Amino acid sequence: MVEYGVVRGQVCPECGVEDAVRVVHGMPTAELALAAERGLVALAGCIVFEDQAAFVCRGCSHEWGSHDDPTTDERELADLLGVGVEDVVRAVGAGWRRVSLDDAGVDWFVSGEPAQVALGVGLGTLTLAPVAAAGDVEVAWDQGRSFSRDDLLCSPGWLAAAADEFARARRRSFRWCPTCRRPHAPEDFSGYRGVCNDCAGRHHGIDR
Ligand SMILES: [Zn+2]
Ligand SMILES: [Zn+2]
Repeated sequence: MVEYGVVRGQVCPECGVEDAVRVVHGMPTAELALAAERGLVALAGCIVFEDQAAFVCRGCSHEWGSHDDPTTDERELADLLGVGVEDVVRAVGAGWRRVSLDDAGVDWFVSGEPAQVALGVGLGTLTLAPVAAAGDVEVAWDQGRSFSRDDLLCSPGWLAAAADEFARARRRSFRWCPTCRRPHAPEDFSGYRGVCNDCAGRHHGIDR
C-alpha cells in the first residue's frame, strides 16, 4: 500500500521545507492516479531506473532519497547522542520523531504510531521512558531508565529490552476505533459509541 500526502520528517535538502511526497513507480491504479492529481503523490511511470529518487519536494521540485533513509529527526537524535543512525536503530529501533516537552535541557523523541515509547537526551545521558499520553505527548519520565552513550554502543540489548518493555505495556492499552479501524491510545477516545476523537468530530458531528 502506498502512503499519500506529505512525508513526515523528510525535509528538502535544497530548500529546507518539509513538504515532500512519495515518488511511485509502475502502472498507477485509479486511486493512485487520483491522488497524483491532488498532488499527494508523484508518479514516475513504468520504466524503472536505478537510483531513482523516493521523494519529491512540492516547493522546489527537487528529488532525492530512498524509502529507508532516516528522517531528519532520526538524524538529529543520532547527532545529539554522537553516534550513527544505525547505532540508534540497533539499540532502540526506528521511527523517532521530536516532540516538544516542557523539560529544560532535555530533547525528547517518541516512536510508534500512536506513540509507544519516549527517549530523552540531555545532561550526558539517554533516558527511555513510558509514554503517558499521545495527543499532547506526556512522558512518565520519573519511571524512565537512563543509559550512557557507551551502553548504547556496547550493550544495545539493554536499551532494546527497556524500550520494548515500555512499548509493549503501552500497546496493551490501545483500542481499535470501529469507524476508522485504526489503533488509538485510550485518551484518544471520545466516549461516543467507542469511536476515536477524530472520527467523532469528522463523521458523527461530536465536538470535544
Ligand atoms: Zn525543496
Ligand atoms: Zn476513528
